[in-house]
Amino acid sequence: GAVSSARPAMAEAAMAARVPPDEDGDECLPQYRHLLSPDLLAGQVAFITGGGSGIGFRIAEIFMRHGCRTVIASRNLQRVAEASKKLVAATGQQCLPLSMDVRQPQTIVAAVDEALKEFQRIDILINGAAGNFLCPASALSFNAFKTVIDIDTMGTFNTSKVLFEKYFRDHGGVIVNITATLSYRGQALQVHAGAAKAAIDAMTRHLAVEWGPNNIRVNSLAPGPITGTEGFRRLGGRFAEKSDQFSMIPLQRAGNKTEIAHSTLYLASPLSSYVTGTTLVVDGGSWLTSPNSFSALLDVWAAGANQ
Ligand code: NAP
Repeated sequence: GAVSSARPAMAEAAMAARVPPDEDGDECLPQYRHLLSPDLLAGQVAFITGGGSGIGFRIAEIFMRHGCRTVIASRNLQRVAEASKKLVAATGQQCLPLSMDVRQPQTIVAAVDEALKEFQRIDILINGAAGNFLCPASALSFNAFKTVIDIDTMGTFNTSKVLFEKYFRDHGGVIVNITATLSYRGQALQVHAGAAKAAIDAMTRHLAVEWGPNNIRVNSLAPGPITGTEGFRRLGGRFAEKSDQFSMIPLQRAGNKTEIAHSTLYLASPLSSYVTGTTLVVDGGSWLTSPNSFSALLDVWAAGANQ
């Protein structure tokens, strides 16, 4: 009796200690306990596309809490400027907000020039910019499919190539591409993003092979369902929560942005100095066991959960 009733409490205490806390909106963490050396990235500079919101914002924060200076870049200058203020206030590190569109190489060139002028170096590139929504293939316009490929796949190639030419070819570097597990089992209503992210995982391997001799490591990180993000809100996260689908995930829950940032920190830092050309899945085992029901997701889509 005493033993079995103590178990849930113990499990809860262990959980509380092991799952790093997170904040839902695009806000910095009110408290942070370092699991790794606070100067793990000291002296380094990270260029983070999509760094003004969601997962990219938390990656910027966690990197800055480990001594890194950051550039956060996306289309909406006001969004990255506001994010930068919060990041600087919370971490005391420098953060340069820049406007660029990953679909337009000349805007990337201008942003990278600006970043190099400010910091004289870039050590890490995080390709986080992406767009996604639920849509059955039959209702997806030609242009909608193309747009997702343009932002995710082309955007990742464009930004990687500019960074290579401007800095990494001569100085080495680390690239982390944020992808997804959508294509592993042909996730319903996700042919556009699944195809786009699968192409990025392929690109990761090609570039790891070609750029390894230049001392450039290239890896992908594939998150599962992550709370407090636009992705979670748009892709039926609340529906999954309500219908108890997270209990089907081996770790019994959705992940949080801090957990994605920690795994990205591993891939971006010298902790993974011999790791290249691989995809790190950070999903609590989700893709192995989660439902992939076309008809159930069609209902979510029809109910407008993707709005
Ligand atoms: P998010 O907040 O919507 O982040 C996407 C970012 O990309 C935004 O900051 C957006 O900023 C930027 N962006 C979009 N189009 C762009 C363009 N053409 N040029 C430059 N920047 C652009 O979404 P999130 O949910 O945190 O997702 C972050 C990454 O994780 C994405 O790669 C996503 O596919 C991946 N992911 C997320 C989940 C999840 O559960 N959330 C799961 C698997 C994978 P602007 O609007 O200012 O351009």
